[in-house]
Amino acid sequence: MFQLLPLFLDLAGRRVLLVGGGPVAAAKLRQLLAASADVRGVSPDVCEAIERSGVPFERRAFAPADLDGVWLVVAAATPDVNREVAAAAEARCVFVNAVDDPANATAFLTGVVRRAGVTLAISTSGAAPALTALLREGIDAVLPRDLSAWVAEAGRQRAAWRRDGVPMADRRPLLLEALNALYDRSPRAVGSEDPALHKQDVAAGLQAGPVVTQGITPANAIGHVSLVGAGPGDPGLLTRRAVARLRAADLVLYDALIDRRILKLARHAQRFFVGKRAGRHAMTQQTINAVMIRAARRGRRVVRLKGGDPFVFGRGGEEMLALRDAGVSVDVVPGVTSAIAAPALAGIPVTHRDHSSAFLVVGGHDEEAFADAVHEVVPNGVTIVVLMGVGRRAALAGRLIDRGWAPATPAAIVFDASKPTQEVWNGTLEDLGTGQVEIENNRPGTIVIGEVVALGTRAGRGQEKRAHHVSR
Ligand code: SAH
Repeated sequence: MFQLLPLFLDLAGRRVLLVGGGPVAAAKLRQLLAASADVRGVSPDVCEAIERSGVPFERRAFAPADLDGVWLVVAAATPDVNREVAAAAEARCVFVNAVDDPANATAFLTGVVRRAGVTLAISTSGAAPALTALLREGIDAVLPRDLSAWVAEAGRQRAAWRRDGVPMADRRPLLLEALNALYDRSPRAVGSEDPALHKQDVAAGLQAGPVVTQGITPANAIGHVSLVGAGPGDPGLLTRRAVARLRAADLVLYDALIDRRILKLARHAQRFFVGKRAGRHAMTQQTINAVMIRAARRGRRVVRLKGGDPFVFGRGGEEMLALRDAGVSVDVVPGVTSAIAAPALAGIPVTHRDHSSAFLVVGGHDEEAFADAVHEVVPNGVTIVVLMGVGRRAALAGRLIDRGWAPATPAAIVFDASKPTQEVWNGTLEDLGTGQVEIENNRPGTIVIGEVVALGTRAGRGQEKRAHHVSR
């Protein structure tokens, strides 16, 4: 099979013959006139649209001599006539475009996407014009929104390369660099009426990694918010969907404990820290909701990035409801929760057939809520995983012992799970209660209590620390 050569023709002022006078011919006539072609027509009958165009039309049957001096002929008549035109054109070395009649054509009009001086052509070699239209829409949707800025920059670069004699092979990487620099210089503004945002971590937004790699970012996307789980820290524990959402994002609102390498995946997004820093919220929950809603309504793709899983102690549920109430489209990308991953990374299975058939994940920041939750379980009956509980570990352990849990129950705290700084403290429930754990409170730690903890201890990992002397 041979290939068609895609080609853009400059028809301005050049003679083109249109054979046929019906609505199909009229549609072609519009395209030819848009290309400033010098169109002449021939057809026994001519529809009103063609009449109105004022283009000179001979009211008679086609004759081969009509092709004299013609660069291109468009056959929009019956198959019989088209065949005649094709034969005559072939003999005179003139290309013929036959509407919906590929057998009688040597030139095929393509579906085109035009934006900012860029023209993309799509052709199915005349076999499936409807598919061409569909593909056209699809391609239009993935072109970058700021294509005109790309075109302008590429033009500037080209002039400089020519001036400096830059070899062809070097130009592509230079162009990518130059396009990326566009975003480094001018991160897209969130909107000036969000003063809270501007005070935020603009530096993070400026440190964007490469923006342009494939040259494609979804455009005219409808605003949307994704509640995305970032896992416990290591980028290797992100889901593929989380990576995809980050790559496509325009705006990322992230909490504390999110690894920089993960944020960098959001290459062309503005990134704002909205979590707690030094015990203070950078932004109230209400403001976060309002910013997400407003950004989505403006057509932005927002990622609300949360540590672990977005629905485990992350207010993800509240945010989802607020977004839904506002009529904003929202999806959830589950993450690897530290409740399971932190023990796992310390070799502790939260369930084991011989030791524990269930686990309870409970927050430790509110002692009363903790007490209520553990009240429901039989002492030493399940594995308990405590998030946000390191600071109150002594009180929490006391509550369990009061409730009838054995003071000798194995306990562990996994700090900085999945990070290079991961450390594991091992001891007993009593050790936790007596507070003889030197711990840096600003590192995230997950407490695990139950017989399964001993399995992790037995695994004998190098990083683990014994009771009573945990430090860095
Ligand atoms: N949605 C998160 C939990 C948010 S609450 C999740 O599913 O993981 C924050 C708590 O998670 C911290 O106080 C700590 O207990 C735990 N945590 C988060 N990251 C951690 C990590 N890398 N190592 C250990 N614990 C972690």
